[in-house]
Amino acid sequence: MGQVIDVEKVLKRINDFSNERDWNQFHSIKNLSMALSVESSELVEIYQWISEDESNDISNEIIKNKAREELADIFIYLLKIASKMDIDLETAALEKLDLNEVKYPVDKSKGNSKKYSEF
Ligand SMILES: [Mg+2]
Repeated sequence: MGQVIDVEKVLKRINDFSNERDWNQFHSIKNLSMALSVESSELVEIYQWISEDESNDISNEIIKNKAREELADIFIYLLKIASKMDIDLETAALEKLDLNEVKYPVDKSKGNSKKYSEF
């Protein structure tokens, strides 16, 4: 991928879209969190009845385009929530990865999918 995301550019479009429609009144953190969950479920729905192998076939343009749209929806809500909460997602993600590295040390977690509480 190697892409640099211009968060401010995307967030401006998100906010312009909401402002033009006077929709901010509906965008409580609760409502946005629920919308994010719905969009995540829409992503899951794409893969619900297909095999793991089919899900990993990124040459299937129909499935890929559906997933692309849902990932965009998820990203939009994620940015909107983080913005409303004044959370820097890059810092938050890097800090969470620091925590995950402590929870899942390589010597205990390499090659297995056990939850940290099962070590
Ligand atoms: Mg959607």
